[in-house]
Amino acid sequence: QEDIFKNVVSHAKEYGFIFPSSEVYDGLSAVYDYAQNGVELKKNIREYWWKSMVQMNENIVGLDAAILMHPTTWKASGHVDAFNDPLIDNKDSKKRYRADVLVEDHAEKINQKAQKEIEKARARFGDAFNEEEFVATNARVGEYLSKYKEILSRLAKGMTDDLQDVKALIEELEIADPETGSRNWTDVKQFNLMFGTKLGASADSAMDLYLRPETAQGIFLNFLNVQKSGRMKIPFGIAQTGKAFRNEIVARQFIFRMREFEQMEMQFFVRPGEEMKWYHHWKETRLNWHLSLGLGKENYRFHDHEKLAHYANAAADIEFNFPFGFKELEGIHSRTDFDLKAHEQYSGRKLQYFDPELNENYVPYVVETSVGLDRMFLAVFATSLQEETLEDGSTRTVLKLPSVLAPTKAAILPLVKKDGLPDIAKKIIDDLKWDFNVAYDEKDAVGRRYRRQDALGTPFCITVDHQTIEDETVTIRHRDTMKQDRVKIAELKDIIENEVSM
Ligand code: ATP
Repeated sequence: QEDIFKNVVSHAKEYGFIFPSSEVYDGLSAVYDYAQNGVELKKNIREYWWKSMVQMNENIVGLDAAILMHPTTWKASGHVDAFNDPLIDNKDSKKRYRADVLVEDHAEKINQKAQKEIEKARARFGDAFNEEEFVATNARVGEYLSKYKEILSRLAKGMTDDLQDVKALIEELEIADPETGSRNWTDVKQFNLMFGTKLGASADSAMDLYLRPETAQGIFLNFLNVQKSGRMKIPFGIAQTGKAFRNEIVARQFIFRMREFEQMEMQFFVRPGEEMKWYHHWKETRLNWHLSLGLGKENYRFHDHEKLAHYANAAADIEFNFPFGFKELEGIHSRTDFDLKAHEQYSGRKLQYFDPELNENYVPYVVETSVGLDRMFLAVFATSLQEETLEDGSTRTVLKLPSVLAPTKAAILPLVKKDGLPDIAKKIIDDLKWDFNVAYDEKDAVGRRYRRQDALGTPFCITVDHQTIEDETVTIRHRDTMKQDRVKIAELKDIIENEVSM
């Protein structure tokens, strides 16, 4: 699995999807730049989300709030006092870790040991293998798995809020510094994740600000402005995509956990008492959205939270099977009226809705869906990257992106660089580029050009050859099946459209 992950990172760099930020200065940890193909894939994911949330729902509208907000926002939202991660330093190595992540990684290692034994047994017994029976009768594997579950449930119960508890668990499990093996830890401390900055030039009047750690608060502060100017009736939603910043302590796993990342959030405002109905509605709707991409049902699962954040009365994650295991991809939270009430209290202004049907004023309840755009990118990219062994025994690397998300929809390739074939290819490009991202490539043998487009995730290769001059037909090759059809140039647009439209 580690190898798969390394492949993902190097493929992303080699084929122009993601580069480390400021690489000439040896990079900046947990900050990444999206390159020429990455920016297209990311844009397509964002549009796919936007279309399904905003365009397809008459009662959801968009917003683009500023990253910088009045600092009292973060006092009211609880971020100044409670947006912390538990942190522990190793006294010998001077390395800093997130205490809960250290425990989680330890649990994951135990789980991996169990899974290895299960896989070995499966290989040995073949079709006759019954996993449940094996786990029930094999004492060692049973013990690993129950230990794994116990640690996870202790973490889920929110023990990370109690710093003494995390410290005790690290000692009880005899967890060591993953790099040096030392068990000499400091106490666990809370560490606030917000990035601070300053507004204004003069030293005494400058105002301390934060870079927003979530996009949601920009929606809450604009709730009444949008409702009134748009004449919105509850239930309605406000959707926003944009950058958020968190000074993460463990910055690793590539774009899974970044310091600067992008969120796609929707806050849905409902009548108090109706939030559970909408919470279940959005859980299901959001899972279906993920499934519509066709990455495989088995790669998703819900994780319902037992321990809830201070603002929530129900919360679940949609977890995805990343190359390093199932991890949070999206959160669905029933946030009650916590945020709007807090902003009323801190601002002294009313943030209430007049419900014409009930003939009363109230502060709406909120159901939130929040997905990381970069995590979506990683989920899509890592799952699509495949090594295939072909009939002749050779292998090919192919990025089987959902066609609707592919950066380039078709590559137009003249078979040779002469006889007027490049001119015909360029004419085809001039026709198609109004509707799709298309690319031109004339370098190397056509087989190698196909492989390059496979690695970039391009769903179609269109080859112009000598027959094209005679009858205006071309070959169109399908990325996944490698099948080639002979079609009229005039048909190309419909064929591509059929496959790639949102
Ligand atoms: P985690 O537990 O992984 O830190 P979280 O529960 O703090 O995530 P939320 O505050 O619910 O995350 O944010 C909503 C979504 O934003 C997450 O589901 C995730 O997809 C994304 N996200 C959060 N933090 C990061 C980050 N540091 N880098 C990339 N994406 C992130």
